[in-house]
Amino acid sequence: MSRIALVRAPNPSAMTLTGTNSYVIDAGNNEALVIDPGPVIDRHLNALLANASERGLNISTIAVTHGHPDHAPAAAPLAARTGATVWVHPNSAVQHDRTFELEGELRVGTLALRVIDAPGHTFEHVALYEPGEGALFTGDVILGEGTVVVAPPGGAMRPYQRTLLRLRDEFPNAARIYGGHGPIVEDARAKIDEYIEHRKLREAELLKVLARESMTIPQLVIAIYGTQRPILWPAMARQLLAYLLALSEEGIVNARALERPMTEQENTILNPSWESIVGAEHAPVIAAELGAMLKLDTLYEYALSSRA
Ligand SMILES: [Zn+2]
Repeated sequence: MSRIALVRAPNPSAMTLTGTNSYVIDAGNNEALVIDPGPVIDRHLNALLANASERGLNISTIAVTHGHPDHAPAAAPLAARTGATVWVHPNSAVQHDRTFELEGELRVGTLALRVIDAPGHTFEHVALYEPGEGALFTGDVILGEGTVVVAPPGGAMRPYQRTLLRLRDEFPNAARIYGGHGPIVEDARAKIDEYIEHRKLREAELLKVLARESMTIPQLVIAIYGTQRPILWPAMARQLLAYLLALSEEGIVNARALERPMTEQENTILNPSWESIVGAEHAPVIAAELGAMLKLDTLYEYALSSRA
């Protein structure tokens, strides 16, 4: 029998899939560890408490993978109702009691979970590994389905890719992945490989397009993703920006600022009204995930540099 129970928050959206995954783990000694308590929704807090009490457990410890508004805000109210200790990454701005020792252990009851510094989606992200079950808790580094948003300024592509490689190379015994959204992944290794490969493919695609012609991000979005789902363009634009920043820094791509003002369509792709895309309720989540605080007010044309 697994010690791990999935309690999904009732906050489905484009960014959160069917909702945020909270995990209630039987840590032994009648203690429960909650990983990612989720958003503040009474029904969800009650579900977490009920899950623990039905199993005869007291929630003693709350671990937050990262501070995004669909993962962390329930930590404070859940701690207030249980007396649990809240642990976060040392870079986190989330209200907490303790900060993780990165690459050290989180001890709860009879369990010792490895704390993995996992930058990329954000720079205050941890993954947790429970060796007894080979359980890898990945937050928003790896999801049960689809891909992860890596968007500046909160996220960065190369650190994200390094995190994936670390998970693959340093945790060969990981059996299942318990991600922040989507179903539990039964084949950890295959999923990590799929994620690593997906990023390589996307980057190769981008470089292939730029090898033909220099382009702005709005042009690249349409060239790469097509005109089918314009609602997704802003998210795609931010993903491309993450690749282009990495490639520019590495001297593979040059960015040249265009003197002209943006057209309305260009501005809608680069700086959309997030609320009009997902509605007011989900706007804070999408704004955090996609780095909406970063205003893109200069239009750049990207070209392969001659060194590449
Ligand atoms: Zn996130």
